Amino acid sequence: MFMSIAPCYLLPQLPESLAGLAELALDLRWSWSYAADAVWQKVAPELWARTRNPWLILQNISGETLQALAQDAAFLALLEGHLQRHRNELTDPGWFEQKYPKAPFQKIAYFSMEFGLSEALPIYSGGLGILAGDCLKTASDLGVPMLGIGMLWQQGYFRQSLDDCGRQLELYPYNDPTQLPVTPVRDADGEWLRLSLPFPGREVILRAWQAQVGRVTLYLLDSNDPLNSPADRGITAELYGGGAEMRLEQEICLGVGGWFLLRRLGIQPEICHLNEGHAAFAILARAYSHMRDHGTDFPCALNATRAGNVFTTHTPVSAGFDRFAPELLARYVEGAPEAFGIDVQTILALGREHPDDPHEPFNMAWLAIRGSILINGVSALHGAVSRRLFQPLFPRWPEAEVPVTHITNGVHVPSWDSAEADALWTRRCGKNRWRGDLGDLPERFQQASDAELWQLRSVARQRVIHFAREALQRQLAAAHRPAEECQAARTALDPNTLTLGFARRFTAYKRPNLLLTDPDRLYRILRNPRYPVQLLIAGKAHPRDGAGKAMIQEWTRFLRQHPDLFGRVVFIADYDMLVAGHLVQGVDLWINTPRRPWEASGTSGMKVLVNGGLNLSELDGWWAEAYTPEVGWALGDRGEHDHDPEWDRREAEELYRLLEEEIVPLFYHGRDDSGCPCGWVARMRQSMAQLSPRFSTNRMLQEYVEKLYLPAAQYLRARQQRTQTESICRWHDQLAAHWQGLRFGELHAQSRDGVLHFQVHIYLDDLEADAIEVQLFANGEGTAEPEIHAMERGEALTGAINSFTYFCDVTTQRPAEDYTPRIVPKHPLVRVPLENSRILWYR
Ligand SMILES: *Cc1c(COP(=O)(O)O)cnc(C)c1O
Repeated sequence: MFMSIAPCYLLPQLPESLAGLAELALDLRWSWSYAADAVWQKVAPELWARTRNPWLILQNISGETLQALAQDAAFLALLEGHLQRHRNELTDPGWFEQKYPKAPFQKIAYFSMEFGLSEALPIYSGGLGILAGDCLKTASDLGVPMLGIGMLWQQGYFRQSLDDCGRQLELYPYNDPTQLPVTPVRDADGEWLRLSLPFPGREVILRAWQAQVGRVTLYLLDSNDPLNSPADRGITAELYGGGAEMRLEQEICLGVGGWFLLRRLGIQPEICHLNEGHAAFAILARAYSHMRDHGTDFPCALNATRAGNVFTTHTPVSAGFDRFAPELLARYVEGAPEAFGIDVQTILALGREHPDDPHEPFNMAWLAIRGSILINGVSALHGAVSRRLFQPLFPRWPEAEVPVTHITNGVHVPSWDSAEADALWTRRCGKNRWRGDLGDLPERFQQASDAELWQLRSVARQRVIHFAREALQRQLAAAHRPAEECQAARTALDPNTLTLGFARRFTAYKRPNLLLTDPDRLYRILRNPRYPVQLLIAGKAHPRDGAGKAMIQEWTRFLRQHPDLFGRVVFIADYDMLVAGHLVQGVDLWINTPRRPWEASGTSGMKVLVNGGLNLSELDGWWAEAYTPEVGWALGDRGEHDHDPEWDRREAEELYRLLEEEIVPLFYHGRDDSGCPCGWVARMRQSMAQLSPRFSTNRMLQEYVEKLYLPAAQYLRARQQRTQTESICRWHDQLAAHWQGLRFGELHAQSRDGVLHFQVHIYLDDLEADAIEVQLFANGEGTAEPEIHAMERGEALTGAINSFTYFCDVTTQRPAEDYTPRIVPKHPLVRVPLENSRILWYR
């Protein structure tokens, strides 16, 4: 299976003894392994340090260097040893195979608009993509049988440069596929695989590429084929660029194109994981395939296939859902019946709250809900927020029962740890610590000594300062600043000063200027003569986010007004995975100030954990469940305050107070004889030991497997037989036909010895009694879950047809008035209310 494709046209002629280099370079496994460093350092030390991109190295290497390496016995031994370890690792049975040898699925297809795997493959914009990348890498580590489906963006997301006044310049360098670690996907005849996707009035050709991510293959589509019109060639140019129509075209390429690609490759994934609603058209494509394969109608096909779809929502506000004008979507559906295969009204209904409202736009998240079997938000808080956002699809159902659970995000630890942190964790917890169960890691890591931890921190701080100085020099030179200033950048920042990091998208809800609320106070904190503080900042604003750009300028203005902060605060341009990697490894404290509940999870703060960085963050997203006083610091009162400027001021005040009174003193005081700040290090130890495993994608992917993939595969299996799906369809039809006829009769409640006895009469019209369940419901007290008791069917009512008494006993202190009977649909193979949201309350 190794290297079936020889990408010789892209590379200089490699001597045979060095052929392994191409195999290694094309597997992004190097992006999360320090084992490969020795090899690439030897091949091209400078390029490696600068780009960490082996593929680029191979393309730039001279014939002479290659000849010299081919003669170097020590290098050949190094290469051979590494290659062997690499291959063994790819074939070792992983966590998944060992734990679930009889898993009811063979393949998971993970659809995502963006994947952030490495700067060598820049096809992501931010957190969503990084999560997708981290997820694939973890699937490789754990041996979870996953493949990825995404897009090969010709320009990816924009690159940022800052002019002299702090204005953001947006640059769009071209992602030349021959310079990316991807290869064309070949079909059985060795031809480059091209898909022909029906679009209105034309076919759009999609080229298929693949990237190797350890054991996982990531398939990428792009439309930049010379056979396409210039406009169509641009569909996959810019991630999150263009207008609504472009976005719709991109999402059709991802969902429908992605599904067509799997069919062409003969891959039949049981599970399709939709990472955010962008990919929801895959639901329609999958159902349409089922219709053609089995000759069923659309409702049956959707019933059969949705059991294999799971959906992760990342959006904390309703405005964040992708919506399309009905006329626009109709043009694409009617203009390309071979792609969709279903009539436009049926499709529109799936994306609407009120299917019959012709003006309601088409909501991709609604489609994703209606086409999936399990849905999750990305933190406990975001799960609750999502239940609120999706509540309109489940009218009259209590919010707590809206079928959205949560699986909190994590980060792929080996991608974000420093070499020194990797070494320390290996000493304490062994080499395979991120490849399986995480159970005893906290206890084992607790054993790390103060000296080890403080040494790690000190080295890491020095490294990030070195990185920041170089970045600053390059930026100043590019901005034509005077030579003395460029020179001064070489000594900017101080290796013994408390170093704060602050990097994120510059947009209003992240409040990247909260620290600037009182500029004089910030200035005093930074310039404190005895206990100084320094700050590293980075972040891009979306090209159309004027407010975000203004906030970048606000920082620049602040720095301009205080020239003596030159060596104390550095704004690093072009925040990307490389910059992020350096920052999260090096800073002492990571600051995050979003407006709750807008940070669905947030992951940048998780990246500092393994490296011994501490967090000071708003109690939002992941931090709302991670924070305890022994691991870091928190802002906010767990309430939501919208855009209240007064509240922003209070939180800024709290931010300054924490820095002045708690954080800075903890860092500088209480040092032992060797200079180690014991209180600070104690927090580091707790934060590292308790939180790194918990907020890793290792834990997250295990939860995906156990809470999403395995149960979904069970539902799917149960629907594999046609008779089953037909019975489910008949059940839906029956409910639709007779629900209106359901009626409650009298309710009686009696109290006896602390037991409440309930009895209610129900008239079922023509509905089979087994098609429904009668439940007794009471709201949860305080924050508790609601109480739900199934009522038992008793005797038929005399003189009435198909009508029964239902009863149940409840042992409780609560009054009978707290309880209400209700009728809900019931089918052993169907999820209610997700798949049928009818409900009838007694009152
Ligand atoms: C981790 C990361 C993000 C996401 O950070 P959040 O704090 O979750 O917004 C964005 N961009 C880059 C480059 C990252 O590495």
